[in-house]
Amino acid sequence: ILELKNIHKSFGDNAVLRGISFSMEKKERIVILGPSGSGKSTLLRCINHLESFEEGDVFLRGKRVEENKLHELRMQVGMVFQRFNIFSHMTALENVIEGPLYVKKMNKEEAIAKGELLLDRVGLGDKKHAKPSQLSGGQLQRVAIARALAMDPEILLFDEPTSALDPELVGEVLQVMKSVAEEGMSMVVVTHEMGFAKDVADRVIFMDEGVIVEEGPPDEMFTRPKTERSRNFLSRVL
Ligand code: ATP
Ligand code: MG
Repeated sequence: ILELKNIHKSFGDNAVLRGISFSMEKKERIVILGPSGSGKSTLLRCINHLESFEEGDVFLRGKRVEENKLHELRMQVGMVFQRFNIFSHMTALENVIEGPLYVKKMNKEEAIAKGELLLDRVGLGDKKHAKPSQLSGGQLQRVAIARALAMDPEILLFDEPTSALDPELVGEVLQVMKSVAEEGMSMVVVTHEMGFAKDVADRVIFMDEGVIVEEGPPDEMFTRPKTERSRNFLSRVL
């Protein structure tokens, strides 16, 4: 469903991505691990062209993503960030229906029905009229997930969705992500939550200094990492 070929990205003379290639099957769950500064966020941003890159191509369902079709791409590839991408002046429900209403031009009744269903699904059925200031970090992040799902994306990208949360709120967000995974969403998740990677990932990709150092199923990666660099990293986080 998604293929990256030889992505190179620099900020000035800082070569952040140095030839990243991988492909992902429909319904596959990929977890990306790697030290701070290894290029994980930049890679996710390149996948949906929030960031331009000098070299390489992104293919979606076999078709190269063209610069003039970014609107289409962003409808198909949703993203959940570390800091909740939620509008503070809108209620939870208004946040969730915003994309369907204004981007997909769905009619209002339909968008509301869908939004309510999605808020139920992330466990916030009773908070639909709450303003972001009345919600906890975990609740906000669940609104952000509902908001991304509302666009019916084919792929969801998560960039450390729990790392800004108080520890006691991490579980509820991971639980929602797990249920999204179980329903068959294709997902690329950057996270330091090794439990999530073990339980949910079909494949773990370990990045360091802008390259993919190693990849494989989580049980192999976590018990028998093949490279020194991934052994080092995993010994610090596991
Ligand atoms: P973390 O685990 O801390 O989130 P990361 O793996 O997501 O790290 P990136 O955020 O992709 O790493 O950053 C990779 C490198 O690119 C870093 O050296 C960072 O300083 C640099 N970088 C990222 N964004 C920019 C930017 N907008 N301008 C200049 N340099 C940037
Ligand atoms: Mg990052």
